[in-house]
Amino acid sequence: MKVIVIDPGHGGRDPGAVGPGGTKEKDVNLVIAHLVHTRLQQDYSVFMTRKNDETVTLTARSALANAKKADLFISIHCNAATNPLANGTETYYASPTGAKLAKHIHERLVGLGLKDRGIKQGTYAVLRNTRMPAVLVEVAFISHAAEEIQLGSTRFLTDVADAICEGVYDYFGKEE
Ligand SMILES: [Zn+2]
Repeated sequence: MKVIVIDPGHGGRDPGAVGPGGTKEKDVNLVIAHLVHTRLQQDYSVFMTRKNDETVTLTARSALANAKKADLFISIHCNAATNPLANGTETYYASPTGAKLAKHIHERLVGLGLKDRGIKQGTYAVLRNTRMPAVLVEVAFISHAAEEIQLGSTRFLTDVADAICEGVYDYFGKEE
């Protein structure tokens, strides 16, 4: 059975970005991650780098994925910018196999109607230090007033989680 590690960004002492309405990125990331976990565990062996609001180091996150010999690593984040009008979704990868996973997940997220900010190569520690195809998803901008409201909607977060899961199924379905 394929092994997938889901990484809800931030947590505990690190709230991540905080929206103008007070929504904390760490909470949104965790809700999405639990939804992804619930669905993917029907078909895969799935682990989370944190299941609660707790502080987890970046080193511990990649170490878990490497120790589990994961086939995929998916880090879930929300974006923020000083420009309050910045919006949309973007997906980061580090390796060529990560790029393929990023393409599938990103296409599904754009399918939700989010502005397409593109698939980008990134140097995030969790991408550099994991030994399997890995992506970091910046779902939407918590610093954008309307997207912060979306990120507070269970309906929207369920759609986001489903998009990430569909991207995983696309990835494995089309793997050569
Ligand atoms: Zn983040």
